[in-house]
Amino acid sequence: MNYTTILQEIYQQIKRLPVTGNVATTIPELAKIDPQKFGMHLTTINGDDFGVGNSEEKFSIQSISKTLSVAMAFSLLGERMWERVGVEPSGNPFNSLVQLEYEKGIPRNPFINAGAIVVADMLLSQLKDPKNDFLNFVRALAGSPEINFNLQVAESEKLTGFRNVALANFIKSFGNIENDVDAVLDFYFFQCSIEMTCKELAHSFFFFANGGVTKNGDPVLTQSQAKRLNALMQMCGFYDESGEFTYKVGLPGKSGIGGGIAALYPKNFTVTTWSPRLNEKGNSELGMNALELLTTKTGMSIF
Ligand code: GLU
Repeated sequence: MNYTTILQEIYQQIKRLPVTGNVATTIPELAKIDPQKFGMHLTTINGDDFGVGNSEEKFSIQSISKTLSVAMAFSLLGERMWERVGVEPSGNPFNSLVQLEYEKGIPRNPFINAGAIVVADMLLSQLKDPKNDFLNFVRALAGSPEINFNLQVAESEKLTGFRNVALANFIKSFGNIENDVDAVLDFYFFQCSIEMTCKELAHSFFFFANGGVTKNGDPVLTQSQAKRLNALMQMCGFYDESGEFTYKVGLPGKSGIGGGIAALYPKNFTVTTWSPRLNEKGNSELGMNALELLTTKTGMSIF
């Protein structure tokens, strides 16, 4: 497969598409991003790299970090983590409160904010130095020491993340948060503020495509655990547009409101896109288009 040519073709096609969608504004710091940015990177299972556009520029990975925090919690706690968070699609927006009441504080899945906040609480209980331990885990996954939190983005979300404060307190009222709510949210906002390039993100996702083993050969999850998290990404990775993404792209993946998408084809490649303009459901408009073009041109999808 000639990925250099394929990515170039996609880049040219994407540039010709009409400009739609808006940059996320719920976190003021993210609203400052240049909406014109577009990057795409593909890493094959043999470790070959292919990138186009702004693929080596850092961006805020936001909700994509939820896949990495879940992976860390799964590696530490195993199946018992699912007693506190479900594995079902939600069909609701990422920051919705509605299902929590009748599901007694057990979020439907770890990729909606409610679920990710419970996972953050699990990590807080497990780790000695939670922020640093998590950052080091992500650096090891990506094989790069140059990955950091963006303090301005974390602070910006802390000042405006009222919905997440409500979610955390609501869950705590059901007894499904063990730690101090402020400490859990602090960890969660920092986790979401991690910045990566498309290339670093594709590398950090390598273990999902490689049966749980990182690009550097370190086992993080068992093959079965990697399969399970890929299944969760397929069902729940794109807010209440996960069906649409599966229908059009046919790969497990996860999006974030920073405009990033990370996806993978098990045993074949990981692929990431970054374009800050989001559609109504909060997913990157051009990112979804680019990934649809990739699986359509190559025929490489899990379906
Ligand atoms: N930190 C963001 C929030 O909690 C993440 C949202 C997202 O990327 O979906 O609102």
